[in-house]
Amino acid sequence: MKRALHNHLTTRFAAAIRPNQQQHYIALRSFHAPPAMPLNILIVGAGIAGPAFAILMQRAVPQTKITVVERHPSLRVAGQQIDLKFQGIEIVQRMGLMETIKSHCVEETGVETLDAQGKPMALFGVNPAGQQRPALTSEHEIMRGDLVRVLYEASLEQRRALKEQQDEVGDVVYEFGKTIPELVESDEGVDVTFTDESRERYDLVVGADGQWSRTRRLAFGQEASDAAFHSLGIHGAYFSVPRIEGEAGNAKVFSASKRRMLFSRTSNRPVTQFLLYTMSDADKLKNSYRQSIEDQREAFAEAFRGIGWQDQRIVNGLQTAEDFYAHELGQIKLKQLCTGRVALLGDAGYCPTPFTGLGVTGCLTGAYVLAGELARHGNDVNSALKAFDIAVRPGVEEIQTLNIKLGLMFPSSRLGVWMLRIAAWAMSKLDQLTWRPRSEEQQVEKWELPEYRELKLQDESILNSQCSV
Ligand SMILES: Cc1cc2nc3c(=O)[nH]c(=O)nc-3n(C[C@H](O)[C@H](O)[C@H](O)COP(=O)(O)OP(=O)(O)OC[C@H]3O[C@@H](n4cnc5c(N)ncnc54)[C@H](O)[C@@H]3O)c2cc1C
Repeated sequence: MKRALHNHLTTRFAAAIRPNQQQHYIALRSFHAPPAMPLNILIVGAGIAGPAFAILMQRAVPQTKITVVERHPSLRVAGQQIDLKFQGIEIVQRMGLMETIKSHCVEETGVETLDAQGKPMALFGVNPAGQQRPALTSEHEIMRGDLVRVLYEASLEQRRALKEQQDEVGDVVYEFGKTIPELVESDEGVDVTFTDESRERYDLVVGADGQWSRTRRLAFGQEASDAAFHSLGIHGAYFSVPRIEGEAGNAKVFSASKRRMLFSRTSNRPVTQFLLYTMSDADKLKNSYRQSIEDQREAFAEAFRGIGWQDQRIVNGLQTAEDFYAHELGQIKLKQLCTGRVALLGDAGYCPTPFTGLGVTGCLTGAYVLAGELARHGNDVNSALKAFDIAVRPGVEEIQTLNIKLGLMFPSSRLGVWMLRIAAWAMSKLDQLTWRPRSEEQQVEKWELPEYRELKLQDESILNSQCSV
């Protein structure tokens, strides 16, 4: 994959400066004149938002010096299936990464809701890109780890390709097992102290360190950071277990009394992912997050024991799975995503929760707008951050909109669960009878991405292509 991506990018940059295109390229370069002194940027977190921003920023202003610090000792590739939708699709297409991402997409064929015995009751198909139907599966579903890896490798390959083509190139460097205990703002920049006690001054710090962002806490203060968390009152746990015979294709949803819901997803993979959600036992589960991972496993096992369907497999799995991950679901809402010379991207600034299915789209949108505004404003970081905050807001509001009343999906009584199953069955029948694919003009109306010629994504001679890796 690395080699192919490298070749693709190198060829693209070579094409960009072929003699017959030089005039256009020079015109573009002067139009997007790089700042007198290239920016020195620190990105905190090598998840999805961090590497995506590194790619876009370096492509727009190759002289930028970018350091990404990741707390984990290596690339953190855990996590289950996540989806890429709407503006997110447009951005990866413009970045030239769509084919690579497609080659990693899982083959989930739809979602079945199950009856009390675990037998399929209703079926929802795949939600085609740009269209809306009451389905959980969208056209582009990818494992979190695969997307993190694609973006990380693309950022490094792009750096190599740029270095082969141009003399004045900055850098993209990843440093693992490192975080930031301290940030101090001054007129000249942000002074950062790292866990290894090294210090450095940056023109900009970008917090892309997830829902529980330390950057947010350090820059906005503990109180504002805590107040930004708006709980949905739902607790979730995710893990994988070995696949059993006959499991493939459709995801499955099983609802149970006491406000519990299970998803299983196998698609074409050798393991089955379980996603457990509950609106009960809130205090116990909340307390467990402050304790060991074993305590978290036990708290979820207690909440889901006796749920029916595959409860033994689920309880055993969550007690032993290596990729077990649990959290309280909540949205992060801040009036501003920037303070001083610190900006927040992705879950750190505007986590929408998995219930909107738009977390990845939010990461890419934020990365795209922030890089666009920085490239447009050159060395003027303060103006760029102000413009970013305003430009990205409609996109943030859109990804955080919850189209369903979540409480209805978590009935407490058996009668409530029965009614939910009947409602799902009726919806699936109605969907099968009435749903028609829409033409491009009829697609769901979404916030339109701002155009940034400064990102150099629209110019086919430079990079905009599909690469298959
Ligand atoms: C381990 C893991 C598993 C996940 N599993 C799922 C899942 O199954 N389903 C789902 O919908 N979403 C999952 N998510 C969340 C999903 O990745 C995000 O909602 C979304 O993609 C936003 O991405 P992000 O880049 O903003 O943050 P994230 O993907 O959360 O990435 C943040 C990165 O920052 C790093 N980091 C955190 N704190 C620091 C620090 N102080 N210093 C340096 N680095 C730091 C983290 O290790 C991580 O690599 C998971 C996230 C993680 C970290």
